[in-house]
Formats: sequence, structure tokens, C-alpha cells
Amino acid sequence: MNAVDIIIKKRDSKALTDEEIRFFIDGYTEGKIPDYQAAAWAMAVLCRGMTARETTALTRAMAESGEMVSLKGIADIAVDKHSTGGVGDKTTLIVQPIVTACGLPVAKMSGRGLGFSGGTIDKFESIPGMRLNLSKEEFLNQLKQYGTVLSGQSADLAPADGKLYALRDVTGTVPSIPLIASSIMSKKIAAGTPLILLDVKVGNGAFMETLEKAEKLARLMVSIGKKFGRSVKAELTDMNQPLGYAVGNALEVQEAVRMLRGEKSAPDLYEHCIESSALMIKMGRKAKSVDEARHMAEDAIHTGKALESLKLLVRLQGGDVSYIDDLAKFPKAPIIRDLYARSDGWLSEINARMVGEASVLLGAGRVTKADRIDHRVGIIVHHKVGDPIKKGMPLFTVHANNEEKLNQAAELLNNACKYSESEVEKLPQFYGLIE
Ligand code: URA
Repeated sequence: MNAVDIIIKKRDSKALTDEEIRFFIDGYTEGKIPDYQAAAWAMAVLCRGMTARETTALTRAMAESGEMVSLKGIADIAVDKHSTGGVGDKTTLIVQPIVTACGLPVAKMSGRGLGFSGGTIDKFESIPGMRLNLSKEEFLNQLKQYGTVLSGQSADLAPADGKLYALRDVTGTVPSIPLIASSIMSKKIAAGTPLILLDVKVGNGAFMETLEKAEKLARLMVSIGKKFGRSVKAELTDMNQPLGYAVGNALEVQEAVRMLRGEKSAPDLYEHCIESSALMIKMGRKAKSVDEARHMAEDAIHTGKALESLKLLVRLQGGDVSYIDDLAKFPKAPIIRDLYARSDGWLSEINARMVGEASVLLGAGRVTKADRIDHRVGIIVHHKVGDPIKKGMPLFTVHANNEEKLNQAAELLNNACKYSESEVEKLPQFYGLIE
């Protein structure tokens, strides 16, 4: 068996055996298969696809590339959630503390930014000191003692996904149903969490642009979870405009903290977080109905318990909690400039992908594996689709670290917006739940 033959076989649309998949993933994890072969293989998978059997074998090989955690006797009803990736999606920073505050342990495996979409690990790293590559022991001890833990892929946990994820980010190999399904589910299976809520994003700012493809991805992940004995639900949610107002790492952390403080937040973000928290609380049987769970989630915010839970998570993982208490401590980008509406009317589009691409251009994401993120940069989106607009109103505030990048991002952002002369309906937020 060798890597070239496996790449050629997939390039020629043939199904790989479980052994070939295992050989490739083990070889890549151990460094015997180089990045350029893994990139060629990932592109072949993206172009030719995989059967459900191949995707399950890939998930298993990636999960078993590190240690497999069992939560039995540690947190038997722990829950995890995972988004397929979006723009302005800071849901985990809000939902994990809410759910923990409602008495349900959360064992969360997250990723970094991917393509134009942001990642929870990059966002949390805006807080100085925060450690997010925990060993298996650290992950389990923290969960057992405190009921809340968050880690990225590490040498112990799903290392194959860690490597492949970083490679896909910069080789145009993200939007593939088998690669996304195996990437997400391998992390979930390795972390041992019995209950999993998936947030499958649909729209121009998601890797699945149509409802049909999003449903296919959701059903595949739910069925993989079932094969590994996990209880999985997948919500299908809108990503045709950025979620909330902030896009960019430190800006998103600040928006999340403000919502947990009970300050006025973007209605779409608030609704999304309450509903997702409620689904998780209900899955963990802490409430009899989703309605009751929604009340619990709202209470966790209003009593300040969710904010305390975020602070606990940050402190336990070495982060400087004073940043949460005083958001002014987050360093600011050197250039902060408003962009204005170019017409009167109603906003009919704020293309989320273009906003995500603008944030990557500013330095909030990576273009090569070696790129370092600038946590300060990003975009504040002041309006939502359906809002009435007057020419000259601020539409975006851009936080940049150099004029040239700001100008390029501004061009993208101006083109991301469309106006209508007649009234436009607000976008829906939820398209369904796959169980
Ligand atoms: N999230 C992941 O963890 N992996 C993907 O491929 C996409 C989103």
C-alpha cells in the first residue's frame, strides 16, 4: 500500500477500503505522508466524494489517531455542540456557559478558523493566557471537577483532524461533505461526549449553500454518531448574513461577554443562543420541554450565572479573567473606520461570505498555515437584512492594522450589500431539526 496509489484511486472516483483510509490517516498523522500528498488526497475527496461507509471509516481513523476518551463515571450526561462554520458565529462562547450554569456538564472540542469562517479556538485565544490544547488528563480532570472544559485538537485528542484541518484551511478543500462530517464527528467521538448538538449552517456564508446539501450533511453526521452510540441532533440554521454584529476574534469575544452580562444584544444572536442552549438542556434531561429549557437559559443570563460560568472556564484554562471584567483591556486595532450606506432603501443582502473574506483579508483568519492571526482586527456589522437604510448611515465599522488591507476589505464590504426600493422581509433563522 502506498499514498500515491490511494490518491490516484480516489482521483479516479473509486471507493477506498477501510484499510487504505486507515493507512493514509495514520501515515499523515505520524508524518510519513507529507502535506502535499495529503492536500492532493483531500482535493480528490472533495471532487469525487466518499460513500457513507468510507466517511464512517475516515471518522473512525481520525478519532482513533489519538486517545479515545470515555466519560463513563466522569460525566455520564455531558453534552457537546459543534457548528459547521459560519461568519460571526460566537455561539459556543455564549452557549457553553449558559448550559453549564443550568447544571449540565459541557465537554467541548472546538476548531480554529477555517476558510472564511471563524473558529472558537482562535476567538478564545484573544484572551491572554488561555490554553486550548489540553491533554486527555487535563480535559478529564477539569470536566470531572468543574463540569466545563474546552479544547482544540491536540497531540492526545484527534491529532489527525488537527493536521488535516490546518491543511484544508489553506488548500481550498473545506466544503466537502465527507471531509466536514469526518472532521467534526472524529473530534466528538474522540472526546467521548454522549450527547451532541450539531449546528449545520446554510447559506452564502456557510460551507453548505443549499438546504438540500445542509440536510445531507446533517443526516450523515447524525447517522455516524448513532453508529458510535451517541445521541445526536442537528439544527439547520441560517448563514446568509453574519450572526450578531461582530466578526473577528476579540470583537466577537466582547460581543459574547456583553450578551452574557445581559446587555442589549443582536436579536438573531440572542435567539440562536437561547434556542441552541435549550436544545442541549433538553437533550441532557435538565428540562421537560424546550420551552422550559429556554426559560432556564434566559434565567442563567439574567442571574449572572452564565457569565460566572464563562469566567470559571477562562480562569481554569489559564486565561486572564480581568479581560472579561473590563472589556476595555482588549487591545484595539490601530485604524478604526466607518463605512456608509450608498443608497436609501431596505437592506436586501449582507453577503456573509464576503464579510468573512473581508475579515480574513484584515488578518482575522489565515491564508497560509504559517500566518499569525491579529486578534484585534475585524468588522462590526451595524444592520441586518430587512432594515430600512438611509444613504450615509454607518453600515460597518472596520478594525484594521493597515490602510491597504482596510481599503481592500472596504471594497469587499461595499459589494457585500444590496439595497431594495421596496420593503424586504427579515431572514428566517431556523430551517429544521434532524434527529
Ligand atoms: N468544523 C470542523 O470541525 N470541521 C470542518 O470541516 C468544518 C467545521
